[in-house]
Amino acid sequence: MARIKNYINGNFQNPILDNWLDNYNPSNGEVYGQIPNSSKEDVEKAYTSAKSAFKLWSQTTLEERSRILIKISELLEVNLQRFAEAESLDNGKPLNLAKVVDIPRAASNFRFFGNAITQFASESHESVGHQAINYTLRQSIGVVGCISPWNLPLYLFTWKIAPALAAGNCVIAKPSEVTPMTAYLLGEICNEAGLPEGVLNIVHGLGTTTGQAIIEHPNIKAISFTGGTATGAHIAKVAAPMFKKLSLELGGKNPNIIFADCDYEDMLNTTVRSSFANQGQICLCGSRIFVEASIFEKFKKDFVEKVRQLKVGHPSNDDTNIGALVSKPHLEKVKAYIDIAKNENGTVLCGGNEVSVKGYENGYYLEPTVIEVTSDECRVNQEEIFGPIVTIMPFNTEDEVLEMANNVKYGLSATLWTNDLKRTMKLSNQLQTGIVWVNTWMMRDLRTPFGGVKASGVGREGGFEALRFFTEAKNVCIKY
Ligand code: NDP
Repeated sequence: MARIKNYINGNFQNPILDNWLDNYNPSNGEVYGQIPNSSKEDVEKAYTSAKSAFKLWSQTTLEERSRILIKISELLEVNLQRFAEAESLDNGKPLNLAKVVDIPRAASNFRFFGNAITQFASESHESVGHQAINYTLRQSIGVVGCISPWNLPLYLFTWKIAPALAAGNCVIAKPSEVTPMTAYLLGEICNEAGLPEGVLNIVHGLGTTTGQAIIEHPNIKAISFTGGTATGAHIAKVAAPMFKKLSLELGGKNPNIIFADCDYEDMLNTTVRSSFANQGQICLCGSRIFVEASIFEKFKKDFVEKVRQLKVGHPSNDDTNIGALVSKPHLEKVKAYIDIAKNENGTVLCGGNEVSVKGYENGYYLEPTVIEVTSDECRVNQEEIFGPIVTIMPFNTEDEVLEMANNVKYGLSATLWTNDLKRTMKLSNQLQTGIVWVNTWMMRDLRTPFGGVKASGVGREGGFEALRFFTEAKNVCIKY
């Protein structure tokens, strides 16, 4: 059985204590490999290697860093098929999706930050009348930790690693133990691209052991984390007393607000995608759909009809729209919400059942599910499910829907469908989220700030925000 290894100091290494975890294939429920269950000692080894690489890497010219990051990007593109297959196998997502979204975006992350670092600049402030000039240095932090989730494995892993490296830091990174494969393969590409030894170290293992060893390491100075809100709160509790820099990208329960004056067909097609792309396992999915009362019945009929056409199937089939959920425990968690909804007077309009895919009967497949709810306060409307389940309910006024949209503990993103300019301006202003999409969904420009408010996180990723996070500002004041 294939065993993947830690990537430390440019080499592939077994875990020091020789502990291993099984890695499951979600499409058939079988163990297909093993991964290191890394201990504190492995993290320490990674730290030692990162620390000794930092001296040189932080002084490497921006052109050279840029060249290496862009080379990594190119190699990911050359290896698109191999990486997409590995991602699909590990995560259960349709191969087509991995090919057009996950891997190309991982390549874009390296290309983007490889270019951005050559354009990153700091400020100077002349203290007029005091004969003094201040300038700000943006210095690399040192060794930083990057921890990512399983839903968009390489996409989110590289979204952290690329700016951290571009800014001259050395990195200890941990992918989710549920989806470690593409992170493992990335090590090979980094070597081929000429990334010096020790600049990036990838340790695999459980969050509670390997992840914990990273966040509590006294000399890892910054943690960039994407994952669940409860884990984020735990990380903040551990890291804050050590005054680490923290970037936390957490859960969401995003409203999708549909007004009668929208471009209906565009809205309908996009709403199917924003509900069920990646089996609904994207932090940006619009899982609470609010529809203006005058078109509610029509929307309900048309939406359900389209959702019924989605094909649940093996991830490698070309016509599969919905692949497997990532793991058995996650499938059980998502399914439990269907019962919770029924107990709260929700009406399942379509879906709600596990799917047995011929030849892969033990895979983790679930029908895309639409539930009509009568109250915005019910649990399926308040808690993050992170699977192929959306709720729908009608509204009458802007103020009513705004209140419902904001009435959750989360605040990651919102989608608004309308052609009314004043309404667009008012709602975009008042929605309590870090991101608002109007008449589109998940359209990304990597220069823009990305992140959430309330329980969806602290800090922003993307563009220069990420490069600011991964550097320390130092002011130098010179009197002349
Ligand atoms: P988790 O919070 O369970 O895990 C995220 C990562 O943290 C994993 O690598 C996990 O390791 C690790 N981890 C767990 N416990 C600790 C710990 N004590 N110390 C350090 N690391 C730890 O999230 P999921 O992987 O289940 O991902 C789903 C969540 O991610 C959802 O809530 C989703 O909304 C959120 N998310 C947010 C995004 C955003 O941009 N805001 C984007 C994508 C997802 P392991 O897997 O081994 O447990």
